[in-house]
Formats: sequence, C-alpha cells, structure tokens
Amino acid sequence: NRFFDVNLVRKDFPIFQEKVNGKPLIWFDNAATTQKPQSVIDRVSYFYQHENSNIHRAAHELAARATDAYEAAREKCRSFLNARSVNEVIFVRGATEAINLVAKTWGDENLHAGDEIILSNLEHHANIVPWQQLAGKKGFKIRVIPVDDDGQILLSEYAKLLNHRTRLVSFTQVSNALGTVTPAMQIVQMAHSVGAKVLVDGAQSVSHLRTDVQALNADWFVFSGHKVFGPTGIGVLYGKEDLLNDTQTWQGGGNMIEDVTFEHTRFHKAPNRFEAGTGNIADAVGLGAAIDYVNKIGIDAIHQYEHNLLQYATGLLKNIPGLRQIGTAPDKASVLSFVFEGYKTEEVGAALNNEGIAVRSGHHCAQPILRRFGVETTVRPSLAFYNTTSEIDVLIETLYRLRKARK
Ligand code: PMP
Repeated sequence: NRFFDVNLVRKDFPIFQEKVNGKPLIWFDNAATTQKPQSVIDRVSYFYQHENSNIHRAAHELAARATDAYEAAREKCRSFLNARSVNEVIFVRGATEAINLVAKTWGDENLHAGDEIILSNLEHHANIVPWQQLAGKKGFKIRVIPVDDDGQILLSEYAKLLNHRTRLVSFTQVSNALGTVTPAMQIVQMAHSVGAKVLVDGAQSVSHLRTDVQALNADWFVFSGHKVFGPTGIGVLYGKEDLLNDTQTWQGGGNMIEDVTFEHTRFHKAPNRFEAGTGNIADAVGLGAAIDYVNKIGIDAIHQYEHNLLQYATGLLKNIPGLRQIGTAPDKASVLSFVFEGYKTEEVGAALNNEGIAVRSGHHCAQPILRRFGVETTVRPSLAFYNTTSEIDVLIETLYRLRKARK
C-alpha cells in the first residue's frame, strides 16, 4: 500500500515468527496489549547490559547513564503528547495507576458531598472503580453520559448533565469495547465552560490517533506503554504543570522529596513529586524506544492504514448471517466487537484460536457499555498497523465455517 510496507514492518516484530496450533500467529488482541518491535526489546536489554543503575542519586557513571536514558524517555513522551514541558510527564505503572493517582490526590482533596462528576457509559472499569471507591468515601455523585445505538456519546444528554456542581468529567477518547472515537475536544470544552476539570483516558487512542494534549486542553491525560508497542508496567500521567504542583502528594518516600526531617518534609515539584521510590526505569526507557518506533512509521500513516483495515473488516463482517456487530459509530478506531448467533463468545474465541487467531472474548473490563447493548460479552478482534487484509480474510473464513457447522 502507499502508506508503508506492512510486510517490512512485520519483520520488526519477532513474535510474528510464532506458530499457534501449527498456524501463523494472527494477533487481533491489540486492545488488550500490543506486540513489541525488536528495537524495544533490544533497548530494554541494552539498558540492563550497559546502563543499569538507580537514577538521580549517585555521582557515578552508570547513574548518569541511567538518569540520562530515563529523562530522555520522558522527553520522548513529552514530544509524543505535545506537552509543554517534561515536568508534565509523570511515569506510572499504566493508565489504571494514573487514574487512581488523580482520584487519590486531586479527587480526595477536591471532591465532596454535593459535588458531581461525570463519566461516560463507554468507560473501562479503570475509569469507573477509582471514582466509585472515592464517592463511597466522600459522598459526591457520579453521573453517566449515555450513548446512542451506534455507541457514540450523546452530546445533548451530556450538556444536560453539566451544571455548577460538576467538578470533573472523566472519559475515554477511544472505547476499548466498541472502538468508538469520542468527540473529545468538544467534551473537554463543554466541561471547562462550567469550570470542571477533565481527565481523558488515552489508553486506546495513543496508538491509533495523533495526540496533542495542548490542543485537547484536558487537565490530565493518561496512557499505558504496553498498548503502544512498549513494555508492560510503565505508562504516563500527563497533567498541566500548575495543577500538578498544586495537587497534594500521593505515595511518600525517596525521590519525591527536597528535604526531610522527622517533623516535616518539603516535596519536589512535578514530576518527581509523584514518583516516589525506584520506578520502572528500564521499561520507561523501553517506552521511549516504542515512541521512536511509532514516530519512524508515522502516526498519521498508521491511522490511515488502520482506518482502511477497519473498513475492510467491517464490510466483510456485515455480510455474515447471524453476526451482530456492536459499536457501529461512524468514527471508530481499531476495534470490532460482535456476537454470533448459535455460539457463545468463548466458543468463537476458541475456534479462532484453533486457527492461530488471538481475539478477546469476554467483557473487556467494560461491563456497563456491553450491558447497554444487552450482552454480557462479545468477541473482540482489535487491529494494529502490523495486521493485514489477508489476516482478516482468515478471520472471516473461519467465521463462515462456524456458520456452516451450525446448520
Ligand atoms: N482505559 C482503557 C480505555 C483501556 O482500554 C485500558 C486497558 N484495557 C485501561 C484503561 C487500563 O489500562 P492498564 O490495564 O494498562 O492500566
């Protein structure tokens, strides 16, 4: 194709040499986690072979190398998000930890009985449970933006939920269960117009769409490294610098302090303020390499290629009798979700696995949105730029075979 050569790109990913049940691996579980290019694997390995040290503290050579590598990765994340400053990039374990951090610091300090926060019906459990836990403690109210029958957020209903009690709007940019791309910019603007803060969950968006946190203007933006071709156990909380520095600390310990006595501690500013203890240094460096890789291909080329792939798959799935696609918004990224007449979703998952195809069949940690469509689980193939139309053909053929076997 004219965007990039997918067959060349696939050579960068050693896992595509794997066979599953004697068949070439077809990785359609990208919404759960993505595969890693050799450059990321090599970068983490290089760190342990040549740079390994704790950061920031020691005067020796390896401490300097490790610190440089870690801070260079922070700069890569800054640039990837188009944040104003590296001080706005906090390394955390992933999207889940980032949301919990905001809930347990800013949320704990600013949300009280009588207040309201707004989530959308599309949210992953990671953007529901931390707020529910806090609401149980503090007594504020959670309101939910409904979606239409295609799985897109209803802005008119959202507008009705916003009022002077709204302190926070927290929502996903791309639904992990349906693939809906939400009108994030508009949601942020509307929240700000009533003085609410906004958190955008970018866990499913960063690997598919260009991110620009300054244009988006959200107060916080979160993502996980493992969903953007980087290692597990590392992710980013972006926050506006003044807001981060005005927010109470979370975990206490080394690295986040300026001065400690038994009576009193003075804390660093962001980002160190929120990075207590020894973090996941090697995997942060690996995330930096993943961002380099994405930049090399180009996120806009990725977006265009995946869009075509998604259109191709959607069109073919539509023709399969007894197959119901869930999530049919015009603006979608990467995710296909469906149920298949006569089969339990796990049976479809198992049949696909026999052909070497990895999909998730389950509730995708987003039970409320599946229940909105009257189902408990779906089959969810989710795509990335290394997937091909011929892989989709294998999926479609397998589904037709299942359909026949049913009769
Ligand atoms: N939000 C969304 C939209 C997600 O898809 C996920 C991961 N499935 C998360 C949050 C949580 O990410 P993690 O498990 O990497 O913390």
